[in-house]
Formats: sequence, structure tokens, C-alpha cells
Amino acid sequence: MTTTVGQILALKGNKAMAVTPDNSILEALKIMAEFDIGAVLVTEGDQLVGIFTERDYARKVALKGLVSRDVKVRELMTANPFTVTPENTVDEVMQTMTNKRFRHLPVLEEGKIAGIVTIGDMVKCIVSEHEATIQHLSNYIAGDLAT
Ligand code: AMP
Repeated sequence: MTTTVGQILALKGNKAMAVTPDNSILEALKIMAEFDIGAVLVTEGDQLVGIFTERDYARKVALKGLVSRDVKVRELMTANPFTVTPENTVDEVMQTMTNKRFRHLPVLEEGKIAGIVTIGDMVKCIVSEHEATIQHLSNYIAGDLAT
């Protein structure tokens, strides 16, 4: 899989929803619900400082009976998240996501936030590459049989 993160972002866009460390967990959840996403970046100015995902909510809030309105994102976010660059390939992203067991990777280009890629983006890309290969082979076989 040689498709790059940059190529995926060119299709899906560079938008990455973010909150600040001082936002409440409830505010983060509202953004995740409104935009139908599973994670928000945590930023201070234009610096990426953390990530907060649905799994953090499930494990660190719901399971512990905490109240989302009373807890700040900074208390529960994963600080200094792993990131990728637009040059990384889908293979490399899949390897990182599988080894580290997370489904979101912020994209940094020269230190600036350039978007986010998810395991869903990777699966979509892999499926469409496989479909293209099947189509190519089918055309090849059909062409061969026709001669
Ligand atoms: P996820 O599977 O993305 O919901 O994340 C599972 C756990 O890994 C959560 O605790 C996240 O905060 C954390 N996590 C998600 N993405 C990253 C990342 N890029 N770097 C470090 N930790 C992450």
C-alpha cells in the first residue's frame, strides 16, 4: 500500500476538530456528537498537545462514574500523541495503529496540524485499492480471453 497520508487528506480534507485542555469533557463530547467523530485533537494555540477519544470517555469517565461537566480535557487526554506526516504511507499508518492499538493519528506538516487520519480512512483506502486491482485483473483476463 503505497498511497500516502497526503493523498488521503487531499480527498477527505484537512479539517480536524479540536478543543483546548481547559474545555470540559462534556464540551468535547458535544463536538464529537455534532460532527459524528470519535476523537478530538487537543490544542494550545496552534500546538498539538493531546488527543481525546471515545475510548478515553468509556474507560476514564463512564466506567469511573465521573461527571463530564466537572472534568477538564487536560485531566484525561493522552498527552503528546503519536503523529504522522503527509509522506507516511497507508502501510506505515496501519502498522503504527495496530502496534500501538489506537485508531486515530493526527497529521503534522512541518510541525503544523494538517488533519487527522483514522482506521476507517485506512480500511476505505485498502478496500478501494483491492477493488482497483480486481478490476484491472478482470479486464486483463477478459482481454486475454477475447483474443
Ligand atoms: P482510539 O483507539 O483512537 O480511540 O484510542 C485508544 C487510546 O489511545 C485512547 O486512550 C487514546 O487517547 C489513545 N490514542 C489515540 N490516538 C493516539 C495517538 N495518535 N497517540 C497516542 N495515543 C493515542
